Amino acid sequence: MSDKESIEQGAEPYIPVVSDERIASACVCCASKQLKSSPAVLMPFVAHRALGWEPVVIDESWGLKTIKSGNAYSVCRSLCCVECGLLFLDIRFSPTELAQLYHDYRGEQYTSLREFYEPGYAMRNAALQPELDYVDRIEAFLSPHLKFPLSILDWGGDTGKNTPFKGQSEVFDIHDISSKDPVDGARIVSRAEAFSRSYRLVVCSNVLEHIPYPASLLNDLKNAMDADSVLYIDVPFEDLMRNHEIELQRLKKHWHEHVNFFSEKSLSKLLQVSGFEIVASAKLRVSVAGVELYILQFACKLRSA
Ligand SMILES: [Zn+2]
Repeated sequence: MSDKESIEQGAEPYIPVVSDERIASACVCCASKQLKSSPAVLMPFVAHRALGWEPVVIDESWGLKTIKSGNAYSVCRSLCCVECGLLFLDIRFSPTELAQLYHDYRGEQYTSLREFYEPGYAMRNAALQPELDYVDRIEAFLSPHLKFPLSILDWGGDTGKNTPFKGQSEVFDIHDISSKDPVDGARIVSRAEAFSRSYRLVVCSNVLEHIPYPASLLNDLKNAMDADSVLYIDVPFEDLMRNHEIELQRLKKHWHEHVNFFSEKSLSKLLQVSGFEIVASAKLRVSVAGVELYILQFACKLRSA
C-alpha cells in the first residue's frame, strides 16, 4: 500500500499527502499546492554529508563561457504554504541520504566535518550533550492523559537519555537511525519490532522537523498504538515562526537539518490528516545550553472511526 493510500479517511475529508517527490510540489503537512517560493542555499555541511555535494570555487580554469567566477553553493528554495503556514525546504532527502546525514549523530565524523564548515561547532556540541533539564515539564504535560503502568516507544530517541518517564516504565524501546548504545533499561528495536505491539506512550520528540514526509511517519506510528495509546510530539517553534506573519519564505535564506518549520496550524493540520485526535497542546519556553528556545507540544490519540 502506498503512503498516499494508507492515510485513513475519518471525520476530515481525505487529503492525499504526496510522499515520493525529490522536490516538493505540495505542502507536506496539508497537501496544498498554493506555495510561495524564494531562493535559498542548502548549508554546505548538510549538502556534503547527505548528498556528497561540496561547495566549489569556479574560476577561469573551468573554461565556462556563460558562468561567472565565484563561490558555488547548493541552491534550493524556501517554500511557504499559503494554506497552513508551513515553511519548508523544497529538497526532500531520500532514506539513504537521511541515513548518511544522521548516522552516529553528533559523533566523531559528524562533528569533525561540521567543525570544518562551521568553526566553533565542536564546542557547541559539547554543551549540547548533557541531559535536557525540562523533561519533568514534558511529563507534567503528558501525565493527565496517560494510563499507567507505562510502556514506551521513543521514535528517534537517540540513546534515550531525554525520554520522559524513562525510569518509570515496564517497557522502554527506542527506534533510532543514529546507531548509538542506549541508556540502562532501554532496548533498541527495529521498525518491525516496534510495530509488532502497541505502547501506552509513543514519543516523537524533536524528530518531525527533520523528516521529509512527516505524514508518512505519523501514519506508520499508528501501527504501535491502540485506543489507550498517547502519541507525544514536540518540534522547535522557530523564532521566524513566532515573530513573523507574512512572506516567511523571503526571510529564510539558508537550510540546515531542520527542513520543516512548523506553525501551530500546520502541525495541527498534519496530525488531523494523519488520523489523530489532539487531546492537548502547549507552547513551552525552555533553555538549552544557555540558549532560550520555544517548542510546540502536542498529545494525541488515534481518532476513532
Ligand atoms: Zn500546508
